[in-house]
Amino acid sequence: MTLWLLGTHLDRTADYLENHDRVLLVESTQFATRRPSHPHKLTLLFAAMRRFRDDLRDRGYTVEYRQAETFGDALDTQFAAHPGDELTMPRPAAHGAADRLGRLVAERGGSLSFVDNPTFILPPAAFDEWAASRETDSPNSYRQEPFYRHMRRETGVLMDDGDPVGGAWNYDGENRETPPADWEPPAPPTFEPGETTRDVAAWVADELETFGEATETAAFHWPVTRAEALTALDRFVDARFEEFGAYQDAMVEGEWAMSHSLLSASINLGLLNPMEVIERAEQAYEEGAAPLNSVEGFIRQLLGWREFMRHVYRRSMPGLAEANQLDQTESLPSAYWTGDTEMVCLSEAVGHVREHGYAHHIERLMVLSNFALLYGADPGELNEWFHQGFVDAFHWVTTPNVIGMGSFATDVLSSKPYASSGSYINRMSDYCGSCPYAVSRDTGEGSCPFNSLYWTFLEENEETLRGTGRMGLMYAHVDDKSPEEWAALRERAEEVRDMAGAGEL
Ligand code: SF4
Repeated sequence: MTLWLLGTHLDRTADYLENHDRVLLVESTQFATRRPSHPHKLTLLFAAMRRFRDDLRDRGYTVEYRQAETFGDALDTQFAAHPGDELTMPRPAAHGAADRLGRLVAERGGSLSFVDNPTFILPPAAFDEWAASRETDSPNSYRQEPFYRHMRRETGVLMDDGDPVGGAWNYDGENRETPPADWEPPAPPTFEPGETTRDVAAWVADELETFGEATETAAFHWPVTRAEALTALDRFVDARFEEFGAYQDAMVEGEWAMSHSLLSASINLGLLNPMEVIERAEQAYEEGAAPLNSVEGFIRQLLGWREFMRHVYRRSMPGLAEANQLDQTESLPSAYWTGDTEMVCLSEAVGHVREHGYAHHIERLMVLSNFALLYGADPGELNEWFHQGFVDAFHWVTTPNVIGMGSFATDVLSSKPYASSGSYINRMSDYCGSCPYAVSRDTGEGSCPFNSLYWTFLEENEETLRGTGRMGLMYAHVDDKSPEEWAALRERAEEVRDMAGAGEL
């Protein structure tokens, strides 16, 4: 009997490691070449797999590490060595993967069964039970916030005798400060690449087509072992957690990490278990090391949002990936690939992705997705861009976040689009002060590109959006504009689109 683990199953503490004759890990070249991913993503994934292999062998496990062109090729070798083998795997999160891998095994005369995947907290049946109870109440109750409260009650995390600690479920209102001008976040931890990481990085650089060719990547930061991931967790809690909450929506020029934890990649690979990270965060609150707005905001992302995304994806695929309720069909502006734009906000956010394979939540949602949404970019193309560019990206992560939340291509996740003009970015960042575009102007040469695109987006999508939740105020402003204002807005939006399409924005 063989335990087959993918590169997202690297949990050295998992129960499923016991009671098997051997562990199989497959390094597939086809996986690395099927899309031009960020070099740090590929380095992270393969270096972490190889270090996991070495760790298991050091602990006495028999590990068969197969490097092959495809999973099928690796299974040919596996079944030549172990005819009729019975394989077990933690259930993969990617849509269709369980069926696809099961077929590959069956074609070679073996069997593949699945166990719960401990990189997630709530098993599918438990989510489905919750969802069934909500769907009978009202369609809008199938939302992240009620799910998050359910998870708090179920797990007892940040609960005090049946009530939320501090008296409120959600401290989002205390997560929107901007830091003073002289604020500098503590530098994120870096991990000196060992021999394995250096080998993989050289292979990636020499052999593979990667995201944003000729990208000047920063030093490789990402933990490739559980020990490094635990160090990253410690450093976050000790040095950055306190300020995380207040500044989690803020953007500062030159600061790619702010006070964010940078732990998502470690959690998505299985190096850290989400529940242990949550418990560590709760402990920090109990010890007075971090305030409630930091702790609750952080736990909400893991216990609420991450779990909700996983299950919405599971239940909404394959339609979710194809959704496009606003019929957006433009190609992404070239600036997303080159970072070449005068718009300081977009240049910063794309630059962070090109350099580090990472941009934080508000850059993802309110700069990168927001601009693509207002510009009319194809949601599927934007999803692919996120999938290629981010170290923590997997199909189950990007698809609901980008197609559902960022692009509003379906209303399965939210009742209104996350669309805003430049004023939001101006409020939450220091970008506009050094930008050649004027955030205070909607029209005319030099006006902020977000502004005219925002108003014309509302106009063009009025039929879908006017009646949807919480858009009334926006459309009151739409109704206030004169025909002359609309003519100038349309003219400027057209100009902006042409410039973006030509790579001249
Ligand atoms: Fe971005 Fe507009 Fe501000 Fe420039 S002025 S940084 S384009 S929001």
